[in-house]
Amino acid sequence: MTDLRGKTALVTGSVQGIGLAVAKSLAAAGARVALHGLANQEDIDAALAEVREAGAPEARFFDADLRDIPAVEAMMREAEAWGPIDVLVNNAGIQKTASLEELDTATWDAIIAVNLSAAFHTMRLSLPAMAQRGYGRVVNIASVHGLVASVDKAPYVAAKFGLVGMSKVAALEYATAGSRTSGGVTVNCIGPGWTETTLIEPQVQARAAKYGGDRDKGVADLLAEKQPSQRTSLPEEIGALALWLCSPVAHNLTGTTIPIDGGWTAQ
Ligand code: NAD
Repeated sequence: MTDLRGKTALVTGSVQGIGLAVAKSLAAAGARVALHGLANQEDIDAALAEVREAGAPEARFFDADLRDIPAVEAMMREAEAWGPIDVLVNNAGIQKTASLEELDTATWDAIIAVNLSAAFHTMRLSLPAMAQRGYGRVVNIASVHGLVASVDKAPYVAAKFGLVGMSKVAALEYATAGSRTSGGVTVNCIGPGWTETTLIEPQVQARAAKYGGDRDKGVADLLAEKQPSQRTSLPEEIGALALWLCSPVAHNLTGTTIPIDGGWTAQ
């Protein structure tokens, strides 16, 4: 069992989907949890209640549009003051499919800002203090698309490959921080394949349309193309791995990307 009592975790994009599942997983291990995302007050309150219910001794919401660098910096100052942040999960992400020819520059800029640049800012603003304390965990939620490409996803694939690369650099720069006893500072990515959240819904619906709107057939069609297990992942399965990466026994696992993709990237 990973014990995160006395530790504080910041999970970006954690009012729903994979981020909320990761936050609940860390909460169940006793972490204080800083939630974040773009949401209305009702959804924020519901997410805070879920995380407290899961076991977080304290939970607080931090507000920042990740496309706005000064807002990210302000959030990090506030979260470090409330924390300090021992576990940083860069999870927030956006996705839009379009061919290179059809892609507009605003979409490119937004996907790179949220899926890649935001993680640079949160990491540069939290890793030095983690190193001073001898324990820190950065878990970046990348994607299979940080390891392989698909058509119509140029900015998403560029951002996720960038996140995988940046995580390796950070892992090297902080490799000697701390000790086996303190837990060290590690930086890793998780690379999910198809996972049941609203992010994939437009792609599911596009496939479902081929089968008269049958969602199950749409999901099966997506899986048949790429994910050999023919099963989607559940957000809490990503949460379970994120929690394990936070354990002291994982002190020497750094600079990696672990796919949870039913064999997608084994092909
Ligand atoms: P989701 O759409 O359910 O959640 C995304 C979160 O990001 C939300 O909380 C949202 O508020 C936040 N967010 C988006 N734009 C933001 C902005 N500008 N500023 C602040 N917060 C912002 O998606 P999800 O499926 O839970 O995705 C979580 C992560 O997992 C993403 O990085 C995604 O790329 C990755 N991922 C998902 C899948 C999948 O199949 N669902 C597969 C591979 C990787």
